[in-house]
Amino acid sequence: MARVAFIGLGNMGGGMAANLAKAGHDVRAFDLSTEALERAKKAGCLPASSAAEAVEGAEAVITMLPAGTHVAAVYADAVFPNAAPSTILIDCSTIDVATTRQLAQDATAKGLEAVDAPVSGGIAAANAGALTFMVGGTESGFSRAQPYLEAMGKAVIHAGASGAGQAVKMCNNLILGATMIATCEGLALAEKLGLDPQVFYDIASKATAQSWSLNTYCPLPGVGPESPADRNYEGGFAAALMLKDLRLAMAAAGEAGANLPMGTRATELYSAFNDAGHGSTDFSGIIKTFQGTA
Ligand code: NAD
Repeated sequence: MARVAFIGLGNMGGGMAANLAKAGHDVRAFDLSTEALERAKKAGCLPASSAAEAVEGAEAVITMLPAGTHVAAVYADAVFPNAAPSTILIDCSTIDVATTRQLAQDATAKGLEAVDAPVSGGIAAANAGALTFMVGGTESGFSRAQPYLEAMGKAVIHAGASGAGQAVKMCNNLILGATMIATCEGLALAEKLGLDPQVFYDIASKATAQSWSLNTYCPLPGVGPESPADRNYEGGFAAALMLKDLRLAMAAAGEAGANLPMGTRATELYSAFNDAGHGSTDFSGIIKTFQGTA
């Protein structure tokens, strides 16, 4: 088993690092939050005092950070100065394609190899080791990253060259953002029409309205499998991160000349939800917008 540096132990990274440790890897974990470090220690990781310390001597470096600026800063300050030539760099965060490609080029220039490996699945899948990874990079980068990703996921798919993983993730989350909003609209209307939400769920989750947003991550408390709605929209996938992803998709659409009317509206709605002070709550909490309680 290998020595793995894991940087970013938040909602997703915490469970992912724990699964690497469970698989027998020697996980050197770092986060700016001491609480997150404490949780990682309990899950079998060895807390490092800095990102640089975690990277020293690691065979793989995995980052799970909020956005491109965080990843670029950690790569510049801690990863590039401390990684050995044999270290594979795996960024699992969702970030913009341009930063991803730049980091991969910088890595190559330093004799290192970097892949983008963003994930789909949410915290339940992160905790259960059931994530889907979409990987961008060379064939050799993919093969080197694969064993680590398999310890954290149920599917590891090579999407194409550097940046392709992020491009797939961006399009996936464009669909997710719009689907969550449509799901919330339907549930809020069902409530206003006096339907029993559980009965509506039982029918719609087996009918053509079914989706991950409805079936697995139902935005109404007490309905469907356990989800952030049952924890007052705490934890999960922050609305601010969904807004970040929608903005990435809108920027990419601008460059590619693609028309995204649903994406445009979803971005406006998540932007208003963030401006109303809900950015750190789960993105399914946007149902409050349609219930009139946001
Ligand atoms: P999070 O905010 O819960 O976790 C991010 C962690 O990074 C925090 O613990 C923070 O303290 C840490 N951090 C920030 N800067 C740091 C630095 N310089 N050094 C060390 N640690 C640092 O976010 P999350 O929900 O775990 O999401 C992480 C990434 O995964 C994001 O890019 C997000 O878009 C993506 N993602 C999230 C989900 C989800 O359901 N939450 C699903 C798929 C993808």
